[in-house]
Amino acid sequence: MAAKDQNRLYPLDRIRNIGIIAHIDAGKTTTTERILFYTGKTHKLGDIDEGTTVTDWMAQERERGITIVSAAVTTFWVPKTGPYADTEARINIIDTPGHVDFTAEVERSLRVLDGGVTVLDAEEGVQSQSETVWRQADKYKVPRICFVNKMDKMGADYFETLKSVRERLGAPAYPYNIPIGKENDFSGVIDLLTQKAYVWDEESAKKGGLEFKEIEIPEEYKADVEKYRGELVEKIAENDDELLEKYLGGEELDKNKLKKALRKAVIAYKIVPVLAGSSLRNKGVQMLLDSVVEYLPSPLDITEIDGINPKTNEKEARKLDIESPFCGLAFKVQIDPHVGKLTYVRIYSGTLKSGTSVANTTKHAHERIGRVLLMHANSREEIAEAYAGEIVAIVGLKNTGTGDTLSEETAPIILESISFPDPVISLAIEPTTKADQEKLGYALGRLSEEDPTFRIRADHETGQTIISGMGELHLEILVDRMKREFSVDAKVGSPQVAYKETIKQIAQGEGKYIRQSGGRGQYGHCFLRVEPLPRGEGFVFASEIKGGSIPQEYIPSVEKGVKERLESGVFAGYPIVDLKAVVYDGTYHDVDSSDIAFKIAGSMALEAAAKKGQPVLLEPIMKVEVTAPEEFMGDVIGDLSAKRAQIESTEHRANAIIVNASVPLAEMSGYVTTLRSMTQGRGTAYMEPSHYEDVPTNIAEKIAAKVKGEKTEN
Ligand code: GDP
Repeated sequence: MAAKDQNRLYPLDRIRNIGIIAHIDAGKTTTTERILFYTGKTHKLGDIDEGTTVTDWMAQERERGITIVSAAVTTFWVPKTGPYADTEARINIIDTPGHVDFTAEVERSLRVLDGGVTVLDAEEGVQSQSETVWRQADKYKVPRICFVNKMDKMGADYFETLKSVRERLGAPAYPYNIPIGKENDFSGVIDLLTQKAYVWDEESAKKGGLEFKEIEIPEEYKADVEKYRGELVEKIAENDDELLEKYLGGEELDKNKLKKALRKAVIAYKIVPVLAGSSLRNKGVQMLLDSVVEYLPSPLDITEIDGINPKTNEKEARKLDIESPFCGLAFKVQIDPHVGKLTYVRIYSGTLKSGTSVANTTKHAHERIGRVLLMHANSREEIAEAYAGEIVAIVGLKNTGTGDTLSEETAPIILESISFPDPVISLAIEPTTKADQEKLGYALGRLSEEDPTFRIRADHETGQTIISGMGELHLEILVDRMKREFSVDAKVGSPQVAYKETIKQIAQGEGKYIRQSGGRGQYGHCFLRVEPLPRGEGFVFASEIKGGSIPQEYIPSVEKGVKERLESGVFAGYPIVDLKAVVYDGTYHDVDSSDIAFKIAGSMALEAAAKKGQPVLLEPIMKVEVTAPEEFMGDVIGDLSAKRAQIESTEHRANAIIVNASVPLAEMSGYVTTLRSMTQGRGTAYMEPSHYEDVPTNIAEKIAAKVKGEKTEN
């Protein structure tokens, strides 16, 4: 891994930072592996033997374990068609995990990618997770291409899938190509803009090859080509004044102009092109890659990014070019067995040089840039410099976590951080020995550094450490890593619903901490007002102290005390959220007042005020989608209703029904097993955290009583 000094400045317009997004099992892994295989092959990156099949190569790759676990991989592709034909493009693929327990990973990757490929199962159409991720991508306005995978599968239906993309996702989806044949007879695609038909060489495809040949458009497809081409061209023209005029005048539109306009429309999220293929059978992935280069944005297509200048606290736009000062966003921290801590950074502007110092503006810290790596599918390349638009991994950063901004010391900026959903499941963890206590602290620190949806808190009353995450699987993996990688021996409690508390009405409270027995005493005294905030707003603190009833210097101490006290609520000991605390009065003592006294007073005042603010319990509500044969509809719905479910919709598909519901997580433990036995093993369920809601009073009281009972036992 020798550092290369040559100028490897890659033309920005030929870089694509993309993510592949899919419902579990739609074929994300297979598609990614095919892409890496083809692209690696084109670029002759690794020592891939031309004769080996894809599967062999995949097995090797799994063993090396780089592709699968890398947060971002760099590959190269030379498109066959379009304006970039025969010019190499660099595609950085940012990993987005498939399991819903890892929504945070999806969020963070969406934040740094420029374009997405949504892989759909041609038989299943849009599935619930594709829908969730789609909405997340909408939030970040990510331009997308849809790849309708598994066209070779029994029951594959390209146009039904297209329909579900339009109806369920409300996406402006238009076929870019249409399949020739389906299921076992899926043999090629017809490109609608160029009106060229291609079929794959079956022998070549079986070996992972890419050979295909052009054929005449088969007679039976001509009507479809005309229909879908017409729709696509009309839609493109609608988004381009010059083309629209010609289109309305009945003129034939130039193919290259259409493509250019389509690129603009895709980037503006006015059109989502849809392509057909089967990754498993090596069909259609090369057309997909061509389209990625042709239609998805390059870093140049976003000209600026907004941030805050920490010196002035004012909004500031940073030009995304190499001439601007360096700034980048850390989007993933990973502990690598070979090199230690790797921090993945998307560079937005300027140049990052190894051996220099930069500022971590989010944490007001300094970082020294050690080695900078480009992660390829099967190798790592150490580089001396990296530029705007690129994605690199930095070795050995000390203070930088996910969502932090790095920038040039003389031109600091804080980019909008990544927002993560709240964890819904928690469990208590207790080290077995004193030595384990220390190891546990270290392990938890490291693991939470990697994963922002993994939270740790101490239960004030029991002294236990509580860890929380996005699902049972998520916590299971983390506990397993703690044992294997950090050899911590600890007792682990059973997973519990992560309840929260909030207040319902404005209330006031007083906190007075005075100790004046001999020597220097303690004096802190404050009045707080607490106000409920809308769900998801978190915690806000403000001061209305005028005239110095509490000296300015002690206000942050009051806030600290309030914050700490929020951690373990007043109703049943769960963290309090969505609350605004305002300190509005107090007194102080010239000699005895101190930070610590005001911190304790703050904590006491919060407790007093929150207790009067009609505290309630909040519980996580899951979005649940159940699929079962029609005859079980009554049972499924009856059972869900008994679980306090709100049935949102029922749909019929083939012989199955799909029930969409919101159900409290507390009611859903063991649901998969229940469902199986209720439906003779034929029902499936999918769920993911949706939001928090009030727990009905009678249930909330039972929970509080149970928590109290457990605490007195301890
Ligand atoms: P992921 O969960 O989205 O990463 O999906 P995988 O790539 O692991 O694929 C899930 C399953 O679908 C595996 O058994 C694959 O072999 C299969 N699969 C993937 N692509 C295709 C395809 O094009 N056709 C068919 N018939 N099966 C496929």
